[in-house]
Amino acid sequence: MGFVVACCFLLVSPALAGETQHVLVLYSNHRLLPANLEFEAGLRETLADSTELSAEFLNYPRFDGASYIRALALFLNEKYARRPPGVLVAAGEESLDFLLRHRAELFPRIPMVHGAVARSFLSSLPPLPADVVGVPIEYDFPGTIDLALRWHPRARRLVVVTGSSAQDHAWEAKLRGEILQFQGRVTVEFLVGLPTDAILKRLSELGSDAVVFTPGYFEDGVGRQFSPREAARLMAAAAAPVYGPFDTFMGTGIVGGSMPNFAAMGRQAGEIANALLAGVTPTALRLPEIMLPTANFDWRQVRRWDIDANAIPGDAIAWFKEPTFLEAHRNEAIMAAAVFLLQAGLIAWLLVERRRRRLANLAVQQQRFELAHAARLAVAGELTGAIAHEINQPLGAILSNADTADLLLTSGVDRRDELRAILADIRRDDLRASAVIQRLRALLAKHAVERQPFDLNGAVREMEPVLQPEARRRGVALEVRPAATAAPLVGDRVQIQQVLLNLVLNALDAVNGLPEARRTVAVSVERDADRVILVVRDCGHGIAPEHLPKLFDSFFSTKRRGMGLGLSIARTLVEVHGGRIRAESRLGEGAVFQAEWPVAGDAGSLGPA
Ligand code: ADP
Repeated sequence: MGFVVACCFLLVSPALAGETQHVLVLYSNHRLLPANLEFEAGLRETLADSTELSAEFLNYPRFDGASYIRALALFLNEKYARRPPGVLVAAGEESLDFLLRHRAELFPRIPMVHGAVARSFLSSLPPLPADVVGVPIEYDFPGTIDLALRWHPRARRLVVVTGSSAQDHAWEAKLRGEILQFQGRVTVEFLVGLPTDAILKRLSELGSDAVVFTPGYFEDGVGRQFSPREAARLMAAAAAPVYGPFDTFMGTGIVGGSMPNFAAMGRQAGEIANALLAGVTPTALRLPEIMLPTANFDWRQVRRWDIDANAIPGDAIAWFKEPTFLEAHRNEAIMAAAVFLLQAGLIAWLLVERRRRRLANLAVQQQRFELAHAARLAVAGELTGAIAHEINQPLGAILSNADTADLLLTSGVDRRDELRAILADIRRDDLRASAVIQRLRALLAKHAVERQPFDLNGAVREMEPVLQPEARRRGVALEVRPAATAAPLVGDRVQIQQVLLNLVLNALDAVNGLPEARRTVAVSVERDADRVILVVRDCGHGIAPEHLPKLFDSFFSTKRRGMGLGLSIARTLVEVHGGRIRAESRLGEGAVFQAEWPVAGDAGSLGPA
């Protein structure tokens, strides 16, 4: 709570004259009253370090009476005669009352600041002298009770506890007036002037329909002295929630209340004292009319009594609030969030990358298939000589058979049996020629890649009409031996046939120029429990050991006019069918190529990747 200083009223201050600043604060109560400690902390915090602060205590209400007051005044007079303060601070109502009565004799013309004085008390006094200033406060008993009833909407009983000292009776009187406004909402019971034991027993028997309000007390029904905070602490063990109007009660176990803040009162008094020490005339100060109370609550009690957090005003001061996980581990949480975001980003990036790789793989595979097709066209070109020869033979046979039939018909003799035999020959030769053409067409056609179940034995047999003519043309004995049992695969039949074609053409190359006995190539299909194997074996010149690792690389060739693509294409086609291919060889003794695939258990379980 700030205030405005009108600078034009500055007088020459003691500080300007080079003296040490001195502030004397007189507290109404004793030295250890929590409210005093809070007030003084605020005061010290605000005064300049060089300002000397003296504190005196009336020790009210424990010590009272005219002779005590006289003696105290004498004591203060003696004590501060040689070292008078520059500003007096009256902390509390009794202190203000005392200083107003004795200031003229004790501290004449010394300006005075009052703090922790209720507005109602001030209005009960004659108007203050012009050099006595301060910001009144309000002990908000009704505000605290209203808070309690709002935070416990099911409460039907309000129990009010006060004590037996004069101050306690003053609070009781204040309360009896203010309580009237709540009588429609709850039934009100006063526990006044009882022994502390009796009070605590009564409070321990309360039910869930009750809330307790107490300003604490200085003295109980049997004359035991307390500070209000001490009394509140004992009462906070009640079986019902306890509320109080002073912030010094916070931490004793009460839930809270609408409270002026004693440290803030000390700071406010300190600011005014600073201005007065600096020479500002008291009448030039523009002070707030009142220091408003604020709602305070003990977070632990809010949870203990299951109070709806929505009912607590947003500007209320929370005490002992356990930090949330985020508040307690802010840095760790930020770190974890950063790591999480980073990880999420990384995962997203990897997913995008994976998709891009998949698309790239698909494109590469497509290109490989195109290449495989181009290679088939090239191979077919190589085979055309042999194939033309192969087709020529049946065509020639058909022609000579047709000529013979013509002769038989012109002879006029009925030779139907011979004619039937000739027609059967023609049909057989025709089928032979068309089988070759069909295979060739199948190899040359550019078809979409298939994923169909088929038997490797059949696929190998189908290739014989294409392979045998080439083998014969080169004078090589080609043996084709299917497996004794079915060899089921799933995939593209023509692509697997292309693997066979490439392996056989290489084998034919390998035996080229060797003596007739070694010009043999054997193709077999083998089958074990879980594999189907295609084996192409030759007795050729074999493969040099240093060539073996590079055999399936693209463009590796040892042939003068070789492209080096046959085996690389074969490996691609084997692998897209989930298989693998390998070569073994002893130099000079021939080579064995084996392509193997897992047996297709059911039609859909295996296929191109
Ligand atoms: P190309 O036949 O055009 O050379 P390939 O990829 O089909 O391409 O073969 C690569 C190389 O592998 C051949 O040049 C040859 O050295 C070797 N090779 C392939 N099959 C055999 C085989 N059966 N015997 C010996 N060497 C072979």
